[in-house]
Amino acid sequence: MAEKSTLVLVTGAGGFIGGSLVASLRARGHQRIRAVDIKPFEAWYQRFDDVENLSLDLNLKENCERAAEGAGNIYNLAANMGGMGFIEHNKALCMLSVLINTHMLQAAVKYGARRFFYSSSACVYNGDKQTSFEATSLKEEDAYPALAEDGYGWEKLFSERMCRHFREDYGLYTRVARFHNVYGPWGTWYGGREKAPAAICRKVIEAKISGKHEIGIWGPGNQERSFMYIDDCIKGVDLIMNSGILEPINLGSSEAVTINQLVDMAEDIAGIKLKRNYDLTAPKGVNGRNSDNTLIQKYLYWEPDTSLRAGLEKTYRWIHDQYLARERGEAGVVREPVADAR
Ligand code: NAD
Repeated sequence: MAEKSTLVLVTGAGGFIGGSLVASLRARGHQRIRAVDIKPFEAWYQRFDDVENLSLDLNLKENCERAAEGAGNIYNLAANMGGMGFIEHNKALCMLSVLINTHMLQAAVKYGARRFFYSSSACVYNGDKQTSFEATSLKEEDAYPALAEDGYGWEKLFSERMCRHFREDYGLYTRVARFHNVYGPWGTWYGGREKAPAAICRKVIEAKISGKHEIGIWGPGNQERSFMYIDDCIKGVDLIMNSGILEPINLGSSEAVTINQLVDMAEDIAGIKLKRNYDLTAPKGVNGRNSDNTLIQKYLYWEPDTSLRAGLEKTYRWIHDQYLARERGEAGVVREPVADAR
């Protein structure tokens, strides 16, 4: 475990998972945290005054060096990403995140960082293993032979390999987790980069408030996925960062549901039933994907275990509040949470 006085760098800290990680590090008593994101401060989802906040473009090597200088532990979460709609239409942009990881790894070596965490994705898995609508539980070895999600997934797979070789060749302590669909409060919920749970909550809220009891669903609705609640993600990141696990490992829930079942849950939370309009031309991703958690159970005796129903309820309530705040003309997300559990 890192000493509480070690300087910890979180990149992508203005985003969903990075912001939640900073909040959690603070709550656990870390005294020196550097938070970096390309976005201007007012667009960060969570920001804390007692943290060193930097707005830097980490595509640039000199900015990665500024960010890494003095940092003992580095959590590299910065990337250009979004839901299927975003990654299908921005493949080049997604691949350019390779610059961030390349320069961050080089900077970590240059400044002698002790540990380096990289957030990979289930999008690295071979597409041929995800053609069935009954979700395949993907084991870590299923990333090869490689046939990753075009653009975003290939960048993640390549960056995973770089982490491995920086460990082997330069002795950098790299740890890699493959996140499977993370959701929860403080996540992107509108604007085009949101993922399925947030998009569905928002659409259900919209339908309820407008009285137009219909919902548009991307794809046929029987695509299967698993969704990991943010608190499980943050706990898993911490456990993996401090573990001896050398190879990329799944970090995801193994509770697979269809998109229709996800909509059922959101409707149930809202207390309404909606007419479903399926858009078969919209991006829908692979047909079925689940996280095989054999390895994480073996190493950590743990796996993400928040039920989708419990996590979705909290997420729905949070988006509902944000939605109403936006309707009142206030900020779409609360940018500066009051000092929390510290
Ligand atoms: P996010 O979009 O909310 O956060 C990513 C942050 O990186 C953003 O705030 C963005 O501004 C920042 N960023 C992008 N380019 C940058 C640059 N050049 N310099 C500095 N900052 C830059 O996404 P998230 O959901 O918090 O994802 C965090 C990480 O987890 C990403 O690497 C993502 O690929 C990975 N991941 C997320 C999920 C998920 O379901 N959310 C699933 C798999 C993997």
